[in-house]
Amino acid sequence: MLRIAIQTKGRLNEQSMELLRDAGVTIKEEKRKFLMRAADFPVEILFLRDDDIPQTVAMGAADLGIVGYNEVAEKGYEVDVLKKLGFGGCRISLAIPKNDKYEGLEYFNGKRIATSYPKVLQKFFDENNIKAEIHTITGSVEISPAAGLADAIFDIVSSGGTLVTNGLVEVEKVLFSEAVLIGTPGLDAEKMAVVEQLMSRFESVLTGAGKKYLLLNLPTAALEEAIKILPAMRSPTVIPLAQSDWCSLQTVVDQNRLWDVIEKLKAIGAEGILVLNLEKIVL
Ligand code: ATP
Ligand code: MG
Repeated sequence: MLRIAIQTKGRLNEQSMELLRDAGVTIKEEKRKFLMRAADFPVEILFLRDDDIPQTVAMGAADLGIVGYNEVAEKGYEVDVLKKLGFGGCRISLAIPKNDKYEGLEYFNGKRIATSYPKVLQKFFDENNIKAEIHTITGSVEISPAAGLADAIFDIVSSGGTLVTNGLVEVEKVLFSEAVLIGTPGLDAEKMAVVEQLMSRFESVLTGAGKKYLLLNLPTAALEEAIKILPAMRSPTVIPLAQSDWCSLQTVVDQNRLWDVIEKLKAIGAEGILVLNLEKIVL
């Protein structure tokens, strides 16, 4: 049986569960244990702290894991990164007190930097020939400059709000991260077949994410113009209407282009525009 490790609670738990659920892997929530068999797919889900996921997968105690790439990079265990999952986006950055003058990486020579990511930082400093003192802290890294424990920090940033609150400014973005699917290297053929099946389901869910289904009526004369506006997977579906010089058009549009597309279509005479949620796209 294939075993997949995910975060017990925390920032990645909910979306990991949601991705699995959308891919048809569900567990009965009410009696959650640390290891649970899925009801409808041959996998077990193992709930762990995110710190432990890379090692668990490297050892083969779980075959797959969903974890932030930042943890994979820091822990350095040998795992295969199989797929980026499109959530949990963040970066690990160097930040300094906002009143300090910053003219480049040399700033960090001889400085004390607090971080929970010492290995990633050491590698970055080595590559850039910077000699600094790295202090490993597991708790609230962002308060260490104000507390006199460090001169600067290397920490996870998403919106940047925490930095501002602590009088810090981001000066170098070092590692970009998101949740990734990792796997034990060299899984046998039987397990690999299930992994492939699961990955193709993930792919369908991820392709559908951020997309909408659009239905509208259009004067047939404007059809050619509409096709230029619409980026469909192949081309839009066109259905004639009872009223002979009108047609109905159906297609898939990226959410971030939705309003732009709608406004352009209205401008060429589109009417009765419906926007529907799309669950999955099976390619
Ligand atoms: P655990 O109890 O499992 O060890 P944790 O406290 O170490 O949890 P979380 O804060 O839940 O970790 O974050 C999990 C992951 O979420 C991070 O490793 C990172 O990949 C991602 N992430 C995305 N945005 C942020 C953010 N703003 N701050 C921290 N982590 C973030
Ligand atoms: Mg952790």
